[in-house]
Amino acid sequence: MTYDPNNIFARILRGEIPCKKVMENDHVLAFHDINPGAPVHVLVIPKGAYVSMADFTANASVTEQAALMKAIGDVARQMGVSDTGYRVISNAGEDGNQEVPHLHFHVVGGRKLGRMLPRAD
Ligand code: 5GP
Repeated sequence: MTYDPNNIFARILRGEIPCKKVMENDHVLAFHDINPGAPVHVLVIPKGAYVSMADFTANASVTEQAALMKAIGDVARQMGVSDTGYRVISNAGEDGNQEVPHLHFHVVGGRKLGRMLPRAD
């Protein structure tokens, strides 16, 4: 999957499309998912143009990588799910069912989330 500079998250980062912001710093933006799958469903994205974790860890600076990791934990605390539990998901590529080709982490919680994946058998 290649980076499309007109993907929806790039447009949110450029301020062309609004979002419900949760937090922002020099390297990261977090905002509510437009179609939440749980009471808490926040997307945490790097500001740099990276498609996936494979791309990000190969090409982003250590500062950017640390900032993204920290933001995920900060968002869980800020959204009040750090004690009750939550899940962090990053879909990548075709098999991962990634819809938006800009690296993002879903932070979901606020209800019991069940098994992570249905069993194949
Ligand atoms: P993916 O399937 O790529 O892991 O997840 C993409 C997520 O982006 C989906 O959960 C979808 O609801 C969310 N999304 C798509 N378009 C928008 C948008 O314009 N604004 C926001 N806030 N979320 C969006």
